[in-house]
Amino acid sequence: MKSKFDRDILSNLESYSSEVSVSGEDLIRLHANELPWKNEAVILALKESLPSMPINRYPEVTNSEIRQKIANYIGFETKNVLIGNGSDEIIDTIGKAFISPLDKVAIPYPTFSLYSTITKIYSGLPIMIPLNKDYTPPIKKIISEVKNAKIAIICSPNNPTGIAYTDEELKSILDTGVLVILDEAYAEFNGHSGMGLLNDYNNLIVMKTFSKAFGLAGFRTGYCVSSEILIDSMSKVMLPYNLNLASMKIAEYAIQHKDFMINSVKKIKENRKYLFGALKELDGVNPIQSSANFILFETENPKIIYEELLKRKILIRYFEGKNYLRVTVGTYEECVKFISSLKEILNAC
Ligand code: PMP
Repeated sequence: MKSKFDRDILSNLESYSSEVSVSGEDLIRLHANELPWKNEAVILALKESLPSMPINRYPEVTNSEIRQKIANYIGFETKNVLIGNGSDEIIDTIGKAFISPLDKVAIPYPTFSLYSTITKIYSGLPIMIPLNKDYTPPIKKIISEVKNAKIAIICSPNNPTGIAYTDEELKSILDTGVLVILDEAYAEFNGHSGMGLLNDYNNLIVMKTFSKAFGLAGFRTGYCVSSEILIDSMSKVMLPYNLNLASMKIAEYAIQHKDFMINSVKKIKENRKYLFGALKELDGVNPIQSSANFILFETENPKIIYEELLKRKILIRYFEGKNYLRVTVGTYEECVKFISSLKEILNAC
């Protein structure tokens, strides 16, 4: 649909809901890279703090308390941290602050769709750089493309492939002088962060989120870490009071109770190992080794598999026109159910 008031760029955009719109109480949700369990300690802490929350007041406008708590957690200073309503808002803020019309934004692809959407919203030009056939990043190609671009957006581990960049690869991109946005939404599952590079590079913004390994997607808290000067630029365009009190509090409790995140990552890695091994044994699918909490697998029949799984109340991620599907690593029981259903479907194909 199109209204007569639309900006021209809207004709090239689709709403994100068209990608992930299936719902249902009894669904096994293996499509959105969420954690399959909740942090009960954090819920309890929030419950206890609710009665004394000043809900009639605006939060402190610079969000300094939670920024400081996050800064302490990651070993940086408050001035290096900016908090957003999910890292989605951080991506939008990066667009607002740094993408002018016709600015080129280099994006290795396939990757998280929001990068090119945001680039288009701010009238920038996404330069999509195809990954190698085995989904590894084509580093030489990226370097030659980013030389003509203002910004490069790198997702590591990459969604949907699960493949991470090494620090050496990141350095070679950073050395071109382009502004590098490093999205580490899934880095906890890899056990490595490129944040250390911030000590040597001031053209780097690292994005993090509480949605994935911390299991707080519903509370929408993300952040980024960078040089003071880039954080200042982003602060100028960020909406005031962007985060609600509860989301800030819950992020604070999530850090306090970070043992939950550490244990969750451990369990997800075990389940990932099982899931990868089981997929590898099946005829008709080819899984890609992943450093994240999801696995991409190639198949000749993605649509049939997706639809047949859905009939069995299992939702995974389908990509229109691609020869692969992505499955989130869930609980062990969910992984077993997924594998036995997939086996059944493949046998009937
Ligand atoms: N980055 C990547 C790579 C993602 O996959 C997602 C969520 N799907 C996000 C960022 C956004 O996460 P959130 O807004 O929940 O922090």
